[in-house]
Amino acid sequence: MRFDTVIIGAGPVGSALAVSLGRQNKNVMIMDANSISKPKVESKKLAISYGSKVILENLGVWGNLEQCTPIKKVHVSHKGFFGRTIVSHEVLDIPALGYVIPQNLLQRQLVLEAQKLGVEILEKCLVTDVSVKGNKALISCNQNKKIFEIDSNLAVIADGGSSLANNSIKKFKEKSFDQEAIICTVKCDRKHTNTAYERFTEHGPIALLPFGDEYVLVWTGQAADCEERYAANTKIFLQSLQKHFGWRAGRFQSVKEKKRVRLFMRYAKDVTSDRIVVLGNAAQTLHPVAAQGFNLGLRDVKDFADLSKKNQCADLGAANFLVKYKASRAADRSFGIGFTDLLTRVFSNNDGPLVITRGFALFMLDALPYLKKIVIQRMIFGSKFT
Ligand SMILES: Cc1cc2nc3c(=O)[nH]c(=O)nc-3n(C[C@H](O)[C@H](O)[C@H](O)COP(=O)(O)OP(=O)(O)OC[C@H]3O[C@@H](n4cnc5c(N)ncnc54)[C@H](O)[C@@H]3O)c2cc1C
Repeated sequence: MRFDTVIIGAGPVGSALAVSLGRQNKNVMIMDANSISKPKVESKKLAISYGSKVILENLGVWGNLEQCTPIKKVHVSHKGFFGRTIVSHEVLDIPALGYVIPQNLLQRQLVLEAQKLGVEILEKCLVTDVSVKGNKALISCNQNKKIFEIDSNLAVIADGGSSLANNSIKKFKEKSFDQEAIICTVKCDRKHTNTAYERFTEHGPIALLPFGDEYVLVWTGQAADCEERYAANTKIFLQSLQKHFGWRAGRFQSVKEKKRVRLFMRYAKDVTSDRIVVLGNAAQTLHPVAAQGFNLGLRDVKDFADLSKKNQCADLGAANFLVKYKASRAADRSFGIGFTDLLTRVFSNNDGPLVITRGFALFMLDALPYLKKIVIQRMIFGSKFT
C-alpha cells in the first residue's frame, strides 16, 4: 500500500504530526527504531510555552497530561552584574507562561491519539535510507533483520537529527559550543511558587524549572566543568550549585537523576527536498538556553498541518506544496535559531562591552514593558503572533 505520508521518528514532533494528519484522514504511517507503545521511562522534562499548550489542546491530548506544572513567572538575572528582569503571565493576560511536562508522557499520549485516529504504527523498525524514485519517496527499513521498502508520496524525517537527512538535505549549518549540560532534579527548602529561573553566569546559563514540588535543573557549562560536576558527590555538587546560582530559590537540599549531555547547534538551511521534509530537531537542533527546541518543532507541525488543510492537498509531496511549507516556516525558524544563538553568544562571553550590553539589555527589558511584551510574545507564540 502506498501512504500519503510516512513519518520517520515517533518523538514528540513526529507523533504530533501523526495526530495532526490523522485528524485530516490522511493515510499516514509513523515508524520508530525503538518501542513506540512503551516509550522508555526516562526523566527528561520539557518546558513548553503557552502557545504549545494551545496546539496540544487542539490536537486533543492536553487533557491527559495531568502531570504538568505551570510556570507563572520567569526570573532572569546575571551573576555578578547589574540588570535583571521578571516576566509574569499577567503581562500577556494568559493563565501561565508555559508548563513543565515529562517528555515520555507527552509522547505516549500523542501515540495513543494517533492510534485512535487509525494511523499505522511500525515500531522497532530502523530506517536505513530514504531515497526518491519518480514521484515517490522510498523508505528502506530493517525490522528484526527483515529488510523491506515502503513507498509514500512524502517522507517526513523527524529522527531528532540523526543522520537520515544527510543525503537529501545537503546544507546543514553546525556550531559546536564546547559546552555540556548537567540535567537533574533538585529540591530546595523553599516552595517554588511556579517560578522558573534563568541565571546567566560567566560559565554558562543555569535554568531552574518548577516541576511537582521540585525543580528540573539544566546547568550549562564547559565540558571539563560538567565532567567534574557530574562526578561530584551530592554535598559538593549542591555546594557548587549554591555558589553559582545564589539563594533566590532558597537552599538546595537534594539532587537526583543526574545526566550529562553535549550541546551543539545544527540546522538545515533548506527544510525540504524532492518528496522529503525535515521537522523538529532533524531540521534544527538548538542550545537549550531558551527552551525553544520542541516549541519550534511543534510549530513546524502546526504550519505543515494548517497548510495541508487549507490547500486540501491530495499529494503532500508535490513540489508546489513543499515550496509553500518552506516559505511558511522561514521567519519563525530564523527568529528561533537566531534568538537562541544570540543568547548563547552574548551570555557566555565575558568581554567588557558584552558584559555592559547584556546588563543594559536586561535593564531595558524591565524598564520598557512594551519591548518586554514583544519579546515574550515571540518566544511563546512564535513569529506569526499578531
Ligand atoms: C538538555 C536539553 C534540554 C531541553 N529542554 C527543552 C525544553 O525545556 N523545551 C523545549 O522546547 N525543548 C527542549 N529541548 C529540546 C527538545 O528536547 C527537542 O527539541 C525535542 O525532543 C525534539 O523532538 P523530536 O521529535 O524532533 O526528536 P526526538 O525526540 O529526538 O525523537 C526522534 C525519534 O526518532 C527515532 N529515530 C531516530 N533515528 C531513527 C531511524 N533511523 N529510524 C527510525 N527511527 C529513528 C528515535 O528513536 C526517536 O524516537 C531540550 C534539549 C536538551 C538537549
